[in-house]
Parts: sequence; C-alpha cells; structure tokens
Amino acid sequence: MIINDPFEHATRQLNDACDILGIDDKGVRQYLATPNRVLRVKIPVVMDDGRLRVFTGFRSQHNNDRGPYKGGLRYLDPKGGIEYAEREVMALSAWMTWKTALVNVPLGGGKGAVYVNPKTENISSKELERITRRFAFEIAEIIGPKKDIPAPDVYTTGTEMAEIMDVYGKLNNKTWQPGVITGKPLNMGGSQARSVATGLGTAYCVRQATKKTGMDLHGASVILQGFGNASTFAGEYLEKMGCIIKGASDSRGSILIADGAKMSDLERHKSETGTVVGFPNSEKVATDQLLTAKCDILIPGALENQITTDIAENIKCKIIGEAANGPTLPDADPILFEKNIQVIPDILANAGGVTISYYEWVQNNMGYYWEFDDVASKMEAHLIHGFDEAFDISMEKKVDMRRATMSVAVKRVYEAFKTRGIWP
Ligand code: NAD
Repeated sequence: MIINDPFEHATRQLNDACDILGIDDKGVRQYLATPNRVLRVKIPVVMDDGRLRVFTGFRSQHNNDRGPYKGGLRYLDPKGGIEYAEREVMALSAWMTWKTALVNVPLGGGKGAVYVNPKTENISSKELERITRRFAFEIAEIIGPKKDIPAPDVYTTGTEMAEIMDVYGKLNNKTWQPGVITGKPLNMGGSQARSVATGLGTAYCVRQATKKTGMDLHGASVILQGFGNASTFAGEYLEKMGCIIKGASDSRGSILIADGAKMSDLERHKSETGTVVGFPNSEKVATDQLLTAKCDILIPGALENQITTDIAENIKCKIIGEAANGPTLPDADPILFEKNIQVIPDILANAGGVTISYYEWVQNNMGYYWEFDDVASKMEAHLIHGFDEAFDISMEKKVDMRRATMSVAVKRVYEAFKTRGIWP
C-alpha cells in the first residue's frame, strides 16, 4: 500500500474543483484525472567499475487537450520505492496540466523520472550521462517539439537537458531540435531567465499576495525549505524585494538564523561545505521546527508531503509560497484556510518555470531570442493574471486558493476537451 499517495491527493484536488464547477459526470472526472499514458522503461547502464546496473524510468503524459505535454524530469528515489515513484510522476504530470492551464500557456501536462539518487549513490558524472542518454533513447519515440517537451526538475540541470536534446536530434535524422526540451544552457537554445524562473515567479506571487493582504514586504522574514533551484532563487528575489532570510534547509538538515542571513553568504557556505547546516550563528533544528518557526513567509521548496495536519496546526507564518510541487497534504489545506494563512498553491507559485519554458520553446520554434526583461515581464504577466483570477474566485466562493486555482485550471481543460471531443 502506498502511504500519502500523491496521485490520490492530486485526484482529490481535481474532485474538489469539479464540485465547485458543477462537473458531476463521473466519466468526465475520470477522463480529467487519468493520465493519457504512463511509460515505464528499463535503463541498462554499465557503471564505471564495469558492473551492469538496471535503472527504472518513467514518463507520464497526463493531458494534451490544450497543447503538447510539458513537464520536468527528476532523478530521485522517494521513500516508498519504485511503485511510489510511479504514482508521484503521475501526480506531478496532472499538476502540470493544471499549472499550464492556470497560467494560460498553450501546453498540456507531463512528468518524468528516473529512480536514482545521484547524490546519495555517488553516481559519477560519466555514469549520470550514460543514464540520461539511455533514458532519452527509451523515451525518444514519445517526446518531440509538438508531442511532449521535458524540462529540469529535482537533481537534473541544463547539462542533462542538452544531452537529451542531442540524443533526440541524432535519432531524428541528425537534426537540430532545441524545441524538444527546455531548461537548456543558453548556448544550446536556452532562454534568458529560465534558470531563475521558478524562484522569480514564486517571488512575484508572494509580492502579489502581500498587495492583496496589505502586508509590508520590507523587513518580512522568510524561511526556505530546500536550497536548490526553486528555493534559492525565490530567496534571492524576495531578498531583493526587502525580505530577510531567517531559515533554510537542504537534504542534510535545517537551520534557523535569528539575526537573519544574506542569501549570498548562505550560498557561499553551501558551495564550500555542501550544506547550509553549520552556517555561522545558526541553530540546527528538526524539519518540523523549521516549518513551524515564527516567520512571515514560508517557502516549501523541496519535496511533496511536507505540510501535514500536525505541521499546519502549529504553523505560524502569514503566507506560504509553494515553490515545490505538492508540499501540502489535502487534509492540511482546511486548517491553513481556517487560520487565515494565505497559501499560494504550487500550480501558481512555481509556474514561473513552465511559463519561461513555454517562451523558451517559442524562441526555439522561431529561431529568434529575447532579452532577460522581455521574457521575465511576459512571465510576470501570466502569473499575476492567474493569481488575480483565482483570488477573485476565492473571495466570491469563499474557498481557499487551492480550490480557486484548481477551478480556473480545470475549467480551461474541460472546455478544451469539450471543444475537441473524443476520437476515435
Ligand atoms: P533541486 O534539485 O535544484 O533542489 C532540490 C533541493 O531540495 C536541494 O537543495 C536538496 O538538498 C533539497 N532536499 C532534498 N531532500 C530534502 C529534504 N528531505 N529536506 C529538505 N530539503 C531537501 O530541485 P528544484 O528544481 O529546486 O526542485 C524543488 C521543487 O521545486 C520540486 O518539488 C520541484 O518539482 C519543484 N519545481 C521545480 C521547478 C524547476 O524549474 N526547477 C519548477 C517547478 C517546480
């Protein structure tokens, strides 16, 4: 049995949205919930010491009624094993469908993963490249610039994206195919602002939430869970907006910094020691202490299933900006709503990544490239529009922002499905 099954959570959120929208037809709900296809592949790789290892990879293509499937690839070994990893990928692919619909970019939802933890397993860079290239070979027939466009996620970077583009192009008559994947390095057809996009988008959303709630961002305290792409750039941009970082964490532990820290100092400490733990004048704390510490803005930016009902009962922040996907359990949402905590749900708070990925793909398709501010301002407009649309619904229907954002997104996909119809 899978505990805290993310796909079950994603389906519950969909059903809540269907309740609000009056979509009662069970068949339609099942259509919207179920991924179109989940591909599970075997990835045989010869390791540096000559041993053969067989990894498992997935690509879940949830929905393409509004455009090609779109979503990241993660290299991770979640607790719960390979079966859990498959459910996780299915859930993440569904959240991508709702995310692209909410911010209104013409893409669908997909997600992929390889069941491996490159950090804890000490996978060398050459081994990682062989895993990536073989995985790309295995999924090549179902991806493509008009079919399914992957991107980076946990423990994958532009390096892996360039390798996947290279494999795909070689398999397709040795053609230049930058539009098959996003999050690429700039010299491989990447976009300005893509590397910071997710965290920058989170910061834009937090700023919009403070405007709605009348909170002053200047001097507001921030706690970051996770210290990777999404959370670090969220921290950097919130700092630029006047916030003070009072806590951080990574896979090695969590710290609170009573007097606050500069992001550049935290980043230097992490790059020198491999972790934020041990930062001068910080206190090492347990994960639940980090999440429930007093602060204005909490950014869960690591993994799913972090904000449980217990954590929600004890949480003391005013705004939660979900940079990670699925960090809050469905039963925790009503508690946060009751406590009047402004939650910016994942499908909105971390949608900056996919929005700039969309613009990367647009640039690849036209072969012409924009400056940082062109792309960042386009992304900001999508996010603020999505935020305001959902906020109005949350006020009108007196529901939390999770239900409000989901109902905006589900309505858009449902209408596309009705327009297209079913064939054959
Ligand atoms: P990343 O690999 O850059 O960083 C992951 C971070 O999580 C690392 O700092 C790692 O140390 C930390 N971590 C791992 N296990 C942890 C644990 N048990 N406790 C605390 N920290 C832990 O990954 P990322 O791209 O920043 O992704 C983080 C989250 O953001 C994921 O949920 C991902 O789906 C989501 N996200 C990422 C993007 C993107 O563009 N990268 C876009 C949208 C959503």
